[in-house]
Amino acid sequence: MEQLGFEGMPRRLYACTPTRLSTWLDCPRRYRMSYLDRPPPSKGPPWAHNSLGASIHNALAGWWRLPRRERSVATAGDLLERGWLESGYADDAQSLLHRRRARSMVEAYVCGLDPAREPLGVERTVATKTDLIAISGRIDRLDDRRAADGGGGKPGELVVVDYKTGRHLLTVDDARTSLPLALYALAAERVMRRPCQRVELHHLPTGQVLAWEHTPESLHRQLRRAEDIAAECAEADERFRGGMTGGSVDEIFQPRPGSWCGWCDFRAHCPEGGSAAVPRRPWDGLASADDADSRPGLSAAGSPPLV
Ligand code: SF4
Repeated sequence: MEQLGFEGMPRRLYACTPTRLSTWLDCPRRYRMSYLDRPPPSKGPPWAHNSLGASIHNALAGWWRLPRRERSVATAGDLLERGWLESGYADDAQSLLHRRRARSMVEAYVCGLDPAREPLGVERTVATKTDLIAISGRIDRLDDRRAADGGGGKPGELVVVDYKTGRHLLTVDDARTSLPLALYALAAERVMRRPCQRVELHHLPTGQVLAWEHTPESLHRQLRRAEDIAAECAEADERFRGGMTGGSVDEIFQPRPGSWCGWCDFRAHCPEGGSAAVPRRPWDGLASADDADSRPGLSAAGSPPLV
């Protein structure tokens, strides 16, 4: 489908993921380096907190894919151990310490799940579009919260579940304002042909569930917001591909330096980011011994981006 662009020219539907839109909002220069520069600039070394997050996500996805009778607490821990990703840790001892903690985290989380409640989707790709954008993304889990007695055959409530494994402490506001969660809910609604208004962040380190019940209006607002961001991205992409007539690269893809630059994969290519934040070691985003059992209320200062 084609729309009229800024100069009256036909404009193609802008295809994107929620991550792409968030990257533009966070830092247009990082967006350029992530999605437009070819060949892409080299990234820094892998982050241990990303390895930990991916190991946990994979274990939980694998657990739901097991036959129901095999979904025990111990098998969740075993899946975590078998699929443990080692990249980014300082040494074997640190990796082992965090593997043990991650096993406990996964087992504690699975303890609270009913293995018989089949999710509608696990790591399921969903997509939706408007006249302006085509959004796609992958949901950690899509639940059908039918009443425990089966709800008399009635369809249950659709719930988008997003696992979080970082030490960053979350609030209900994180669920309420999350653009990706709202877009996933809209995409799930389209794919399943049923309303989907509830979104949940499941923070494994603390066991907290941060939930938000959207309304059709609040989802609509988030969709309009996504379209506005996508329009900026589309214009910037077009200028980049057209050889940047009408503005220099840095005018359009401005850096947004700040403390978060310490966690940016492209910091080595960005002078402003390099002087804005201290460099982080690949394992600095892991919970330390002091906040290993990070309880609500602990400071999240210096935490890496949400994982
Ligand atoms: S280092 Fe900071 S300013 Fe530079 S690209 Fe990364 S996030 Fe943007």
